[in-house]
Amino acid sequence: MENVLKNFTIIKQEISDKKNVKLVAVTKTFPINHILPVINEGHVDFGENKVQEALEKWTSIKQDFPKIKLHLIGKLQTNKVKFVLPLFDYIHSLDSLKLASKISEQQTIKNFKPKLFIQVNIGNEPQKSGVEIDSIENFYKKCVEDFKLNIVGLMCIPPFDKDSKPYFTKMRELSNNLNLSEISMGMSNDYMEAINQGSTFIRVGSKIFGARG
Ligand SMILES: *Cc1c(COP(=O)(O)O)cnc(C)c1O
Repeated sequence: MENVLKNFTIIKQEISDKKNVKLVAVTKTFPINHILPVINEGHVDFGENKVQEALEKWTSIKQDFPKIKLHLIGKLQTNKVKFVLPLFDYIHSLDSLKLASKISEQQTIKNFKPKLFIQVNIGNEPQKSGVEIDSIENFYKKCVEDFKLNIVGLMCIPPFDKDSKPYFTKMRELSNNLNLSEISMGMSNDYMEAINQGSTFIRVGSKIFGARG
């Protein structure tokens, strides 16, 4: 418990001069009592990767702490979209037009527009989700024009066994081409590099909360 707060404080200090960088504290697998020290510090941005887990963990806490912003960072199945609005303020994993269409439908029904990141398959890995690099521009246009989505930026998870830097650099280039303001990249092992390459949302889990079981 003590460690969580200590870890959190160290990272906050490390990034304290990066005014446009937001820290998303990734709380997947951890129970709320493990997370509470960080909530009580007044931290607002928290990330989860599973819809069901997030609903159970955050629905009532979010009412007690209305400033909290919840970020969905994991794969979103189209049949779950109706459960994620308005619980999640941000969705970092928009990866198909089918999903874009569903979010579009639900944001009208719920009268709530989440902030969205298009997930880019930056390493062109067959097993990973994300829009192909060559399709990003078209995908973005369709999201904005056809589906009226609030796309704030791009997100990626680089190949885990390689140096992230060239992927982060490529992300910044793609982001600049589309004139987008936010980039979601960087995790426990590479967030400083991500910030150096222009990340504005780092997603840090284990370095704050410890190893996941
Ligand atoms: C789990 C997860 C993170 C956090 O990973 P750590 O290495 O624990 O910091 C970041 N982004 C996504 C998409 C994740 O699933």
